[in-house]
Amino acid sequence: MAECVKCGYCCTKSVCFYGIWSKTKDQCDFLATNRMCSMYDIIIKDRDAQWNPAFGAGCSSSLFNIVREQKLKEVRLMAEKNLNICPHCKTDKFLADDFFTDMVKYNLTEGHIPCTFCGNFVYIRITKDGVLSFIEKYKLTTDEFAKLDF
Ligand code: SF4
Ligand code: SF4
Ligand SMILES: [Zn+2]
Repeated sequence: MAECVKCGYCCTKSVCFYGIWSKTKDQCDFLATNRMCSMYDIIIKDRDAQWNPAFGAGCSSSLFNIVREQKLKEVRLMAEKNLNICPHCKTDKFLADDFFTDMVKYNLTEGHIPCTFCGNFVYIRITKDGVLSFIEKYKLTTDEFAKLDF
């Protein structure tokens, strides 16, 4: 089966066991504007969710799915761009892959973190899939600096 890239297309065609069809939106009422399931945190706690909707298990709607193709293209482009370069010291891949995996695990999509090579802070944003989507230099405020636990 093709990989699920979280494009949300299937939830505009029919609903899963937990979904409610919205006639006005012509999609599941729980499909958020970012194309993600707004009920994810609740549904995932249910044991039966592994069978339906079986989040991430694979895509059975990949044929002629333009929405999925578009999402795939965006993810590939972002990965190719390689934003994982410290904007201060220019160290390539200064953030480890584990770091992004952990952010996804704790539902974090942004953060202020110090570069382990030069110690300067950066502000980053990642997609829900853990792909770095934005990075810029960050200067700690005096208050933030005072709270640092060295
Ligand atoms: S990739 Fe397939 S299964 Fe995943 S959200 Fe899109 S249409 Fe649904
Ligand atoms: S409840 Fe979530 S996974 Fe199920 S159809 Fe609606 S948006 Fe999709
Ligand atoms: Zn650095």
